[in-house]
Amino acid sequence: MLSKVSFLCGFLLVFGGCGSNNTRMPEVVDYPTCEPESVPPKVIESQSKLTSVQSNVPGDWLPPSRVEKKWTAIVIHHSATESGNAAIFDRMHREENHWDGVGYDFVIGNGTDSGNGQVEVTFRWREQVAGAHCGGTPGNWANIDAVGICLVGNFNCTAATAKQMQSLSKLVRFLQKRYGISTSRIYGHSSTPGARVTDCPGRNSPVAGLKQMLGS
Ligand SMILES: [Zn+2]
Repeated sequence: MLSKVSFLCGFLLVFGGCGSNNTRMPEVVDYPTCEPESVPPKVIESQSKLTSVQSNVPGDWLPPSRVEKKWTAIVIHHSATESGNAAIFDRMHREENHWDGVGYDFVIGNGTDSGNGQVEVTFRWREQVAGAHCGGTPGNWANIDAVGICLVGNFNCTAATAKQMQSLSKLVRFLQKRYGISTSRIYGHSSTPGARVTDCPGRNSPVAGLKQMLGS
């Protein structure tokens, strides 16, 4: 059980160029020192207010109402790998980081190991549990209250595909409407308040382009 494990705030810096030998290196993430299971979920009291924004999105974007939290921010990541998908990152984070699974809530594919622009929903979103995508201090707010979205790709070398950006924009708009998240609360990993030093989501960060698409 997570709650019985004393987590150290391990921080793995992954330096790499754009060669083919770094394709399996995960992005820089670290585990929250908090105990996710001990954090009481901020259950939204009135689900009726949410029904108006549920149309035109995939059903698996809608978390079960019995566990739904009030998310307050969005953190954008790149995978720092040329390829990958949610299952691959899940295995990587379990085997190499000894976490309880992939750290993100959503993974958006680039056409390698999942579809170009395909949005995969992970167990963290389905179960509305704290993520492991933006670590640092004990009780890291971003892992607990921010939705973690990872775009597959090493954006130090390449940029998000047009289809990834379209999917990201649609997903972020959905999250903003559903939880009342302002565009100023959309961060790249490296610019997230409290985040440790990281270059994620890469030199070619998709965040500025995303905010242009959102009209702000
Ligand atoms: Zn990141």
